Amino acid sequence: MYVLVVNCGSSSLKFQLIELPEERVVAKGLVDRIGQKVSAQFSYSSGERSFPVATVDAPDHPAALGHVIAALTSGATAVLRARSEIGAVGHRVVHGGEKFTGSVVITEEVLRCIEECGALAPLHNPANLAGIRACMEALPGVPNVAVFDTAFHQTMPPHAFHYALPYELYEQDRIRRYGFHGTSHKYVTETFAHIAGIPLDRVCCITCHLGNGSSLAAVENGHSVDTSMGFTPLAGVVMGTRCGDIDPALVFHLMKVKGLGAEQLADLLNKGSGLLGFSGVSSDMRDVLQAAQQGHVRAALAIELWAYSIAKYIGSYAAILPRVDGIIFTAGIGENSALLRAVICEKLRGLGILLDPTANERGKGARCISAATSRISIWVIPTNEELEIARETFELTARHE
Ligand code: ADP
Repeated sequence: MYVLVVNCGSSSLKFQLIELPEERVVAKGLVDRIGQKVSAQFSYSSGERSFPVATVDAPDHPAALGHVIAALTSGATAVLRARSEIGAVGHRVVHGGEKFTGSVVITEEVLRCIEECGALAPLHNPANLAGIRACMEALPGVPNVAVFDTAFHQTMPPHAFHYALPYELYEQDRIRRYGFHGTSHKYVTETFAHIAGIPLDRVCCITCHLGNGSSLAAVENGHSVDTSMGFTPLAGVVMGTRCGDIDPALVFHLMKVKGLGAEQLADLLNKGSGLLGFSGVSSDMRDVLQAAQQGHVRAALAIELWAYSIAKYIGSYAAILPRVDGIIFTAGIGENSALLRAVICEKLRGLGILLDPTANERGKGARCISAATSRISIWVIPTNEELEIARETFELTARHE
């Protein structure tokens, strides 16, 4: 069965067509700059073949999806005979609030709930909904599945997800920790359990999703019991442009002394902080690393802040878990930077955590990188959120049929 995996942002539509149960990526691509003044760009590849980036007319998500379906089914880019070969569509949905503890087949009722959860993720859920509606229209009769970034963390116990705020704020406005990147944390947890030979319902691990946005999760017996992001993705460790944890009183201090409003502060903390704001160099870790290696003092210190914030979370999760079977690094930085994995692990020597330098620097794919004497094993496991979405979509729609 062909599953189309769709991830819509406000001005982008990323997709993969995956054949299941073979788990073969048949085609993938991105329509970027949807609805912007400049023309949209369409990149597409199938199998080993990449096609030149095309300029397309995409004033909205339905138009962008039209280009995707046309590419999948016609001309030199075709991989399907007809759109009817698409058996199901899996959508990444950012916020499922407390309603969704797992993936679901989309019904009118589900659409209404996703819309309601939009109050919690006003930037993301509306774009996700636009993608879902476009698919319902273009592929009538094909089941759509929603896979939520928040769902994996819905197993957090109350003492982990509540904030010590007046309880009415939770009751009336659902103010609590939700956590994000759940699809990635879930995928690497499952992969880790599989390759380490531990039953999923017994695995305890710390998953470190370190990309542009970063979050960690504490996983006990296969379930997320804590995570570093909070009510929004701003909380937790230092990120590309987000500050991570700060003293919340800074917000009103900055309002007073800088005369900043809510929007400006949101921009400052979400888009102008983190590696970018502190180093003044870039939000991209490769640029910051390069600047640090060339002697840029603030870039070097930005990396220290970043690594220190991650090491502290790992330490706190090691403290609250009954045991740790493994620490898992994933996403852009976690998978690719042996140097930064070493910088983080160096700060954890007090816990008896030791890397094997050769395994850390060489090797590819999912692997153990800790020394035989390490008290906790350390792993690199490449994440694959699209595959996780495809698997869950396949599972739900196969059962649905
Ligand atoms: P996103 O959160 O946007 O999905 P990714 O998971 O793709 O991001 O991670 C992007 C980050 O990974 C960027 O900061 C990039 O610089 C970093 N990155 C990728 N490769 C390397 C590398 N070899 N060394 C250090 N950082 C890397």
